[in-house]
Amino acid sequence: FDQRDGLIWFNGEMIPWDDARVHLLTHALHYGSAVFEGMRAYDGEIFKLTEHNQRLRESAEILDFEVPYSVAELDKAAREVIAANKLSDAYVRPLAWRGSEQMGVSAQKTRINVAIAAWEWGAYFDPAAIEKGMKLKFAKYRRPDPATAPVHSKAAGLYMICTIEKHRAEREGFADAVMLDWRGYVAECTGANIFFVKDGVIYTPIADCFLNGITRRTVMSLAKQRGWDVVEKRILPEDLADFTECFVTGTAAEVMPVGSIGEYSFTPGEITRTLMADYAALVHPAKSIAAAG
Ligand code: PMP
Repeated sequence: FDQRDGLIWFNGEMIPWDDARVHLLTHALHYGSAVFEGMRAYDGEIFKLTEHNQRLRESAEILDFEVPYSVAELDKAAREVIAANKLSDAYVRPLAWRGSEQMGVSAQKTRINVAIAAWEWGAYFDPAAIEKGMKLKFAKYRRPDPATAPVHSKAAGLYMICTIEKHRAEREGFADAVMLDWRGYVAECTGANIFFVKDGVIYTPIADCFLNGITRRTVMSLAKQRGWDVVEKRILPEDLADFTECFVTGTAAEVMPVGSIGEYSFTPGEITRTLMADYAALVHPAKSIAAAG
């Protein structure tokens, strides 16, 4: 992925893709001092751009460093990346990290670097799963206690367990893994939030120890606009037997139906289908108008 055509915004300059390099002694590589964002452009416009860049700055603050660009500067830079690469439907990846000026746990003298890359992007999960829903399994690792790790930061280091669990799921033929939190309540997937439906009511875990996704909040407001109740509550794995529908949400995942989690099965129904369509119409206004016309 490191050698291809394209331009990357790197500390304020637009440079060729292949030249976007860091030194071996980059602090972030050794000590996990990096935060990132994942956003999507639809028809050349980045969805919820400002919210993502705000979160990037907040994630860094939680990790005790300040992103040396304002939200407005980051917004402008991200738009420039889309334009410079002539992208329309794309994934955009901002990253902020401590550099290689000092090695050790103390890293006060390191430069804070920021880069934004973008590339063409299709579906995150297999679109073939849209009919029946994806097959998920429960993960072994749990989301940590907020007293143990900076769980509200989109910190690179928190993805270590996500990659382990995603690989384990893939090797066993599942699309993804559902992680519990440290108490044993259902938390989220390795890169997406999770929702359930029972008797016309939508349920989702309380985001007190995992990322309160921008898509999660968007879908909750779409559901409320439809007049559906959305209840945030603690959900145990055994509670899954009572739910009839399940879906996941995320910038990359969008709204994706789930067919099973381990022994529990679900049937994508009216609420899942409607929210998938409402989300698609919200992010892709041009396409939905074209389809309607
Ligand atoms: N949880 C995790 C672990 C994620 O990586 C993501 C994707 N950023 C989400 C939830 C969903 O967040 P968002 O809707 O802001 O993309």
